[in-house]
Amino acid sequence: MIDMRERQVLRHVVLPQALRVALPPMGNYAIALLKDTSVASLISAPELMLRARDLSSEYFMPMHDLFGRRHHVSLHGISPLVPCAPARATLRTDKRQWKGGSMIDKVDVVVIGSGALGASTAFHLVKAGRSVALVDKAAIASQTSPRAAGLSGQLRRSELMTRLASRAVAKIERFTEETGEPMVFFQPGSLKIARTPEHEKQVHEEVAFGKRLGLNVDLIAPEAARRLMPFLHTDGIRAVLHMRTDVYLEPVQVPLGYARASERLGARLLPETRVTKIVVENGAVTRVATDKGEIGATTVVDAAGGWLRLVASLAGSSVPVVPTRHQLMITVPLPEVTPDQPITRIIDANVYVRPDKGGLMLGGYEKDPVQYDMNRQPTAFRIENLELDIAVLRRLAESVHDQFPIFRDIAVQEHRGGLPTMTADGEYVLGPAPGVQGLYVIGGCCVGGLSTAPAFGEVLAEWIVMGRSPMDLSRMSPARFATGLPEASLLALCRDRYAHHYWSSATMPKHTAVASA
Ligand SMILES: Cc1cc2nc3c(=O)[nH]c(=O)nc-3n(C[C@H](O)[C@H](O)[C@H](O)COP(=O)(O)OP(=O)(O)OC[C@H]3O[C@@H](n4cnc5c(N)ncnc54)[C@H](O)[C@@H]3O)c2cc1C
Repeated sequence: MIDMRERQVLRHVVLPQALRVALPPMGNYAIALLKDTSVASLISAPELMLRARDLSSEYFMPMHDLFGRRHHVSLHGISPLVPCAPARATLRTDKRQWKGGSMIDKVDVVVIGSGALGASTAFHLVKAGRSVALVDKAAIASQTSPRAAGLSGQLRRSELMTRLASRAVAKIERFTEETGEPMVFFQPGSLKIARTPEHEKQVHEEVAFGKRLGLNVDLIAPEAARRLMPFLHTDGIRAVLHMRTDVYLEPVQVPLGYARASERLGARLLPETRVTKIVVENGAVTRVATDKGEIGATTVVDAAGGWLRLVASLAGSSVPVVPTRHQLMITVPLPEVTPDQPITRIIDANVYVRPDKGGLMLGGYEKDPVQYDMNRQPTAFRIENLELDIAVLRRLAESVHDQFPIFRDIAVQEHRGGLPTMTADGEYVLGPAPGVQGLYVIGGCCVGGLSTAPAFGEVLAEWIVMGRSPMDLSRMSPARFATGLPEASLLALCRDRYAHHYWSSATMPKHTAVASA
């Protein structure tokens, strides 16, 4: 036991065997010495950042900052510690803003939502010299984004999306250089598995498409895939696509890194501040009303994630996206798991697998997802209140049993979920909101907004700063649904998109709702 009533200088920490087993060998860890509990525990650096709000920051020591010997930690379990560093892991939020009931009088841009997309937009705006307030009704970076799987998928349906998803990965690779914030990521690439004749054809077409765009992608034999991902059984596999530069990461790093970097460059972070109205005068945004006061701004970014549609409606604009529950689970640690095993996606089952926390993560897209109408949720609803259902994941695991028998009957160490938003055509929504000058929207990412946020936040910031789109983004225009889509058709189309997440347009069954749209 470590007595933390007094500040101490620790020379060594011997990790309990149980903790050592739980650590993937190349993890990046921090020691959190919890002042109140008198217990030293080892948690991952990103998790530490996520929990920093709740902990006494005085005793945080990012171990990778002190000595770059991460292997030493997990292999031998003995780590030298130096005197406690000053608080680093907490987010400062300026209390002066609440004086007299008013907060910030005026900024160039109010960004609503501090998830990956809002925080990235805020960072790129403030970097370009704009004054920014990043407002969130919850804690900073606390809602859907930190619950994501953290996978990149660079090979997309269109050239535009593929190029932007690749730009996002390039920005993740130099995240620390650009933002000054930590970014731990792994780049083992990804496998896409075809088990039906249609998906075999799809995989061949995607490889040809990727090569045309200069991506490092190839077809590989099922046995070669098994050598990369030893849990994969090859019976029934018809084709495997290998995309060599895909990455995975602990998701909270993206929104929290951008939020902290924005704040350092001068952005004002306003957590626990709910936007109640976007005031529009003569067709243009003039200010934002919150439950803590008003902020004047002629540019507002709606990056409200699951609440995107609701927030757009606060300005009288309509952006038809559908929040849809998405879940994943992580098994208990398995001795054969290593972080260099690739992300593996099974097309027909819409299931993904990757290493995480010493075990295997499995997530996927069920046929009958639960869709949400945020107008019907209480104002206080947060993602932590979302009802989860592990039976959905057990069924998805069963659907890939021939390839991943390991998931049958295995214990789970973590189960989480959130509310990404779907669109009727599977494209993002990014750009000016219809009917309201000065209101921009970023979202509708169809369960892909975490890994692409570095590029999409940058593009939207460029758009706002330059006053015009930096490239042809018309297929993502929030106004493309302006003619209106009956609600039932919208829900059906979004459900279909979700249920066939990895299917190409050619292999996706045509839903009857398309005809009625
Ligand atoms: C289990 C799971 C796995 C996923 N896996 C991946 C993946 O592998 N790769 C990937 O790229 N994506 C993945 N996603 C999707 C990804 O998480 C989302 O696309 C992304 O996080 C969306 O970010 P966001 O900033 O729009 O939303 P959020 O992170 O939800 O942020 C929106 C913020 O807006 C705030 N807000 C809402 N209303 C208001 C208001 N009125 N006033 C002030 N603030 C408000 C909210 O409090 C919230 O913090 C996954 C999602 C889940 C749930």
